[in-house]
Amino acid sequence: MENDTLLAVDNIEVVYNEYVLVLRGLSLEVQRGSITALLGANGAGKSTTLKAISGLLKSEDGKITRGDIKFDGQIISNQEPDTTVRSGISQVMEGRRIIQDMTVLENLKLGAFTRTDRANIADDIDLVYSYFPRLKERTGLAGYLSGGEQQMLAIGRAMMARPKLILMDEPSMGLSPLLVKEVFGIIKKLNRDFGVTILLVEQNAAMALSCASHGYIMENGKIVLDGTAAELRENEDIKEFYLGGS
Ligand code: ATP
Repeated sequence: MENDTLLAVDNIEVVYNEYVLVLRGLSLEVQRGSITALLGANGAGKSTTLKAISGLLKSEDGKITRGDIKFDGQIISNQEPDTTVRSGISQVMEGRRIIQDMTVLENLKLGAFTRTDRANIADDIDLVYSYFPRLKERTGLAGYLSGGEQQMLAIGRAMMARPKLILMDEPSMGLSPLLVKEVFGIIKKLNRDFGVTILLVEQNAAMALSCASHGYIMENGKIVLDGTAAELRENEDIKEFYLGGS
């Protein structure tokens, strides 16, 4: 796993609406098979970074105006979101964005929209249910699921694309401490069992650094610090600003 870079973001600049500069020369690398955390204050540009990678920036009138993103050896900057999914990247959006007036099963099938191996899709639905047994019991519309169940469905839907890389935007948001623990347990299990690489954006720095191997700290549109999760947990500034002084 040493030095096997799956994703390389090289010095990118991102602009919204042709003039609002949000990312100002951001670089980071994600090693194949790792969980990598991207941390930073509100408004630092974490979600924008994920959207730049997945191509979802376009739907918000955002654009990469400098630098490159390379995934598995290919340049993917400013690619269409469905092309990015086909390349092997799935994003679990902040706020989950599942389709409320579709069933759980329909949402999961939607996650497999780029796949041509129809025969294996049913097996993968069973696999998702084995991770999230509660989802199997919920036969109604996804809009009636609890917040935790919606988060699980969003992760399950991302798995259905059989991605190499999952981009997760604040999976802990709005969940009780118990559910946060459960969701992070599942993220670790996914990574361990299937070797899915994960780039994790989180406000909950303690939780993120407990499951990541490497972390990046973002301020004002660029990376200001990076290191192993152990190094970051021991860093005095990180302790003070991100780990609640503990
Ligand atoms: P949060 O944790 O609050 O989601 P973040 O680190 O993910 O913060 P972003 O959501 O990437 O930050 O936002 C970074 C900056 O870009 C903010 O100043 C925000 O106002 C601006 N921004 C985000 N989306 C747009 C958009 N569609 N158009 C214009 N500006 C935007």
